[in-house]
Amino acid sequence: MAKVAYFSGQKFPLEMHKVRIIQKLTLLPVEDRLKAIEGAGYNTFLLENKDVFLDMLTDSGVNAMSDNQQAAMLVADDAYAGSATFTRLHAKLQEFFGMEYFLPCHQGRAAEHILSRAYVEEGSVVPMNYHFTTMKAHVTACGGELVELLGPEGVAVTSQDPFKGDTELAALEALIKERGAENIPFFRVEAGTNLIGGQPVSLANYRAVYELCSKHGIKVVLDASLLADNLHFIKAREPEFANWSVADITLAIAECADIIYFSARKLGFGRGGGICTNSKEVYSDLRSWVPMFEGFLTYGGMSVREMEAITVGLDETLDEDMINQGPLFIEHFVDEMDQRGIPVITPPGGLGAHIDARGFLDHVDQRQYPSGALAAAVYVASGVRGMERGTLSEQREPDGTEPLAHMELLRLALPRRVFTLSQVQYAIDRIHWLYANRRLVGGLEWIEEPPILRFFYGLLRPVGDWQHALVAKFRQDFGDSL
Ligand SMILES: *Cc1c(COP(=O)(O)O)cnc(C)c1O
Repeated sequence: MAKVAYFSGQKFPLEMHKVRIIQKLTLLPVEDRLKAIEGAGYNTFLLENKDVFLDMLTDSGVNAMSDNQQAAMLVADDAYAGSATFTRLHAKLQEFFGMEYFLPCHQGRAAEHILSRAYVEEGSVVPMNYHFTTMKAHVTACGGELVELLGPEGVAVTSQDPFKGDTELAALEALIKERGAENIPFFRVEAGTNLIGGQPVSLANYRAVYELCSKHGIKVVLDASLLADNLHFIKAREPEFANWSVADITLAIAECADIIYFSARKLGFGRGGGICTNSKEVYSDLRSWVPMFEGFLTYGGMSVREMEAITVGLDETLDEDMINQGPLFIEHFVDEMDQRGIPVITPPGGLGAHIDARGFLDHVDQRQYPSGALAAAVYVASGVRGMERGTLSEQREPDGTEPLAHMELLRLALPRRVFTLSQVQYAIDRIHWLYANRRLVGGLEWIEEPPILRFFYGLLRPVGDWQHALVAKFRQDFGDSL
């Protein structure tokens, strides 16, 4: 059961851990925040962390470690080949997923690289519930085509659907019929779909997809990077499994996959990655790529310290009290913004709170990057750094035209076990102020647009001069406070 507290009838999440190491933060005055975002070309990726108050850019590799993880790191066994650390991690994964084989790699995208190199070729069709940026890059680099099979609720901004990450079975069946099972090297299901707001997949859907794919001899690949949140949501939202242990739900999901890969920058509160399978054939298909790109088979580019931390982190992932904190904080974050009329993705997912930038800045043309403008404006108003997930994160077509994203989102990630509730409350308060003053915020235009992965390095500037009006209004409303 999730632990919560009630104050004046309102529900609050309750942390089942205490903080024993801290990092001091700074909150710059609003004028300095404006200078910092100007220096960063209005791109939050280019801000220096020292200028950021609450870093909600991502949950990747920035989750807080536990005392037990830190302790385990001290007893790591450093050997190029055959270290006891590897044996411990391998045994833990066998228990966690019930799969015999494990190939280590340095992070999630390395697993995607190996899988794509091994199985995707010119003409391959790779269906999935929804894409993730790095997987899309690898599949297309190998000549494959990606097809997304979410139901219509999946990309709806507001919804009551508890499992927006579910695959539409009829669409999968039609695709297999149309393109032929022999052209589909695997189906990829992403637990806790990152790009549509950390939305979960139901156990019923994992099972149905596996049954359909198996009937046609198509392998199912599970991207388990965001599995921890999905485990929480299955217990909380799928009544049939409310009394199941997290360990049993994990095994039931794993039974619906032929291959599981994960980023341990998310799953396991560490930094690394890996691929698991029960098939000897799959293992030998994939094995040779590991020493070629990652490192020897018993470390795969990871440090042994991180491997020890992941081993303990996986155990913590099977403890409800450890995995509930993220989703419960996010639920609070989303519900409080929703109550203030701020347009947010509902129901709350994992990973972070997602603001609908098209709703927030409905006066800004999508070609002037409302999500990017909102990310910059939130930083100026609060010192909180989020990530643009909209048209700016897309790539131009070869003819130079610009595809507009399905959803214009500002993602405010909550790294696990890092922020306190009063920090979340502060972010809500400043975003609420910005919402009341949203007409002051305008769009962005390019100063320098890189041809690939432009959202990482691109430099932009405000269309017009809206940033100064925003800072002036801030001073007027907040006096000399920061
Ligand atoms: C982060 C992430 C990846 C990529 O993992 P990295 O460790 O960042 O390379 C893949 N899939 C999902 C769902 C992710 O969230």
